[in-house]
Amino acid sequence: FMPFSLPSIPASLLNAALLFVLQIFINNEWHDAVSKKTFPSVNPATGEVICQVAEGDKADVDKAVKAAKAAFQLGSPWRRMDASHRGKLLNRLADLIERDRAYLAALETLDNGKPYSVAYLVDLDMVVKCLRYFAGWSDKFHGKTIPLDGDFFCYTRHEPVGVCGQIIPWNFPLLMQAWKLGPALATGNVVVMKVAEQTPLSALYVASLVKEAGFPPGVVNIIPGYGPTAGAAISSHMEVDKVAFTGSTEVGHLIQKAAAESNLKRVTLELGGKSPNIIMSDADMDWAVEQAHFALFFNQGQCCCAGSRTYVQEDIYHEFVERSVERAKSRVVGNPFDFKTEQGPQVDEEQFKKILGYISTGKREGAKLLCGGNPAADKGYFIQPTVFGDVQDNMTIAREEIFGPVMQILKFRTIEEVVERANDSKYGLAAAVFTKDLDKANYVSQALRAGTVWVNCYDVFGAQAPFGGYKASGNGRELGEYGLDAYLEVKNVTIKIPQKNS
Ligand code: ADP
Repeated sequence: FMPFSLPSIPASLLNAALLFVLQIFINNEWHDAVSKKTFPSVNPATGEVICQVAEGDKADVDKAVKAAKAAFQLGSPWRRMDASHRGKLLNRLADLIERDRAYLAALETLDNGKPYSVAYLVDLDMVVKCLRYFAGWSDKFHGKTIPLDGDFFCYTRHEPVGVCGQIIPWNFPLLMQAWKLGPALATGNVVVMKVAEQTPLSALYVASLVKEAGFPPGVVNIIPGYGPTAGAAISSHMEVDKVAFTGSTEVGHLIQKAAAESNLKRVTLELGGKSPNIIMSDADMDWAVEQAHFALFFNQGQCCCAGSRTYVQEDIYHEFVERSVERAKSRVVGNPFDFKTEQGPQVDEEQFKKILGYISTGKREGAKLLCGGNPAADKGYFIQPTVFGDVQDNMTIAREEIFGPVMQILKFRTIEEVVERANDSKYGLAAAVFTKDLDKANYVSQALRAGTVWVNCYDVFGAQAPFGGYKASGNGRELGEYGLDAYLEVKNVTIKIPQKNS
């Protein structure tokens, strides 16, 4: 964390954002919604409307799919473009995002509520690295030659899937956009993306950079709007070849169903989690307390992979709980534009109320509220960092995703017991273990059913490493070489080889 490297917040931001209606981006042009409707985007730190945004729905999705299909036609500039040039365009997009990094970080903070220091240093850093990583893959996803029986030359081509519908959430608006655009564009697909209704601003600004970078019209189309209208229109569209979704498990079911009931489009899902974070009694106490705090509270607790079941071994339980409460009490909550702020507001009123609801359920079901539990300000959607101790596995707060700054601490005795309890969840997104014992680390990391296991660390992400879920946490992987698979069809070509040269 290097506060000295933070640039000041662009002064023009607040006024500029208020001046225009943000529109729908189709064919490298800006459009009103066909219905002419707009919806407000709200600043969660104040509850005030920032600006109106065009509200796309089915008619706009139809327009965008048409544009995307045209851009994907055989012989189109995008289909004929050299693979290396696609990489160049992605790198150019990364350059432009770097150029406007302070502006984008501030926009993200304004719309989402996350601290500006985090948006600038973490989110934007990861966005740029993700795009550059996938830029590199553009001309490196090789097929194979295959020793088929008989006189044949048999090989595979890895080809783009086609029109990719991408539906993204509000917790990391820019980063989720980059995770989706990077692999789709590197592999030559075209995109119809719906951004979350809570946080449309930064992704639309990036749309203007997509155009500036020189992507041909129709390759990237971005639609702000609501889930049941614009989102559902994508997942049930007959001419969308693939849908990639990040969001709740509940909506994940709807997406997969819509795909099944329409054209069997390919589906990848990155959904909820209730990730166990296991602290063994031999762990480095200072580090484990800080990392468990970070695992849960990072991003206002709004992470699908949040370490939201903190299992602590019994002989260190009391000390760990005491120190975790101390740490939570010292967490700096406030104006997200203040460089000292660690925690801003929750993204909207709905999440705010839902989290407070989980806190009362926790108290009612007998968990011990050790600190926090209330709103942290008179206006805006701030919640006090909250810690529950003596949490039991069957309590609602130990089973459901809270998506807020509410930590659950559970006690365990043996390693076998904790593995069984950790795996007893419908989710399987991430997990972690803190221990100095290599055998324990190895045992636990192979036994846990989760797409990511961190050992003596948490939330370590890089564009190079795959991320995704077991069980109801989703299917498919994003990032890394594995992240390309979802965006590629494998074509087998078999050619008869003449045995005589006539
Ligand atoms: P959260 O509960 O965290 O807001 P959601 O799963 O509701 O997560 O939202 C994630 C994304 O899915 C958002 O872009 C949202 O608009 C979209 N969405 C919500 N409902 C649907 C739906 N029925 N079909 C398609 N997309 C949807």
